[in-house]
Amino acid sequence: TCGGHHAHESPALVFQNVALGYPGADSSVLSGLNLTLDRGRSIALLGDNGSGKSTLLKSIAGLLRLRQGKISVLGHAVGQCHHQVAYLPQHRDIDWDFPISVQRFVLTGLYIHLGWFRRPGRVQRKAAAEILDRLTLTSLAERRINELSGGQQQRLLLARTLLHGADLLLLDEPFNAVDAENRALVRGVLRGLKAEGKTLVTATHELDFGEDFFDARFRLTDGSLTEEGAP
Ligand code: ADP
Repeated sequence: TCGGHHAHESPALVFQNVALGYPGADSSVLSGLNLTLDRGRSIALLGDNGSGKSTLLKSIAGLLRLRQGKISVLGHAVGQCHHQVAYLPQHRDIDWDFPISVQRFVLTGLYIHLGWFRRPGRVQRKAAAEILDRLTLTSLAERRINELSGGQQQRLLLARTLLHGADLLLLDEPFNAVDAENRALVRGVLRGLKAEGKTLVTATHELDFGEDFFDARFRLTDGSLTEEGAP
């Protein structure tokens, strides 16, 4: 299956000579990517704006056609384990003017389990409420998502990702616009995920790379991926 935490299982992620790019563009954004990531590990993806961090996360999420090579996710071909892979997109990728409440937005984290038209049950609504509480968003639950501050919206994205309950989390700049106080909160949540044995791939800025929940750091430069420092 795609789930489980047994030691004998396949790695969380295997990249074999992968090249990534966008339709219509001749050159690849990234190429010659090779990486094996064991389950329960937490890595940082570093690199300048435009270096390909989002592109790499999208490829793992199954949102991008590969130009070359192979990606295995939790032992399956990429795109086959949606129940176990949660993707937190960059803040700018969301249409914040979509008319939906905070409460309902969080529940969209369950769509992969429920389908769009089945209503969440009592247990699921309770889980959503607990996660909103953990990210101190309870008082905003009835608000429209475009009434929140940037930092509140960022916490909301994390809340939705948590509700998904996946084993592998792909986080695109989860600290974006989060102020100092809430940064500690978000950091605590990510530490908790790691303690639960989740696998985390986090695109982040230089400033964050001292975060202690990263087991290793990888840098994207000139279209390739290299590990930094000793783990
Ligand atoms: P980062 O997340 O590190 O800022 P991105 O992965 O967003 O970098 O972008 C890497 C490169 O891919 C950039 O040159 C960017 O212009 C290009 N790119 C990103 N998204 C698209 C797209 N949808 N279509 C074409 N090119 C894109």
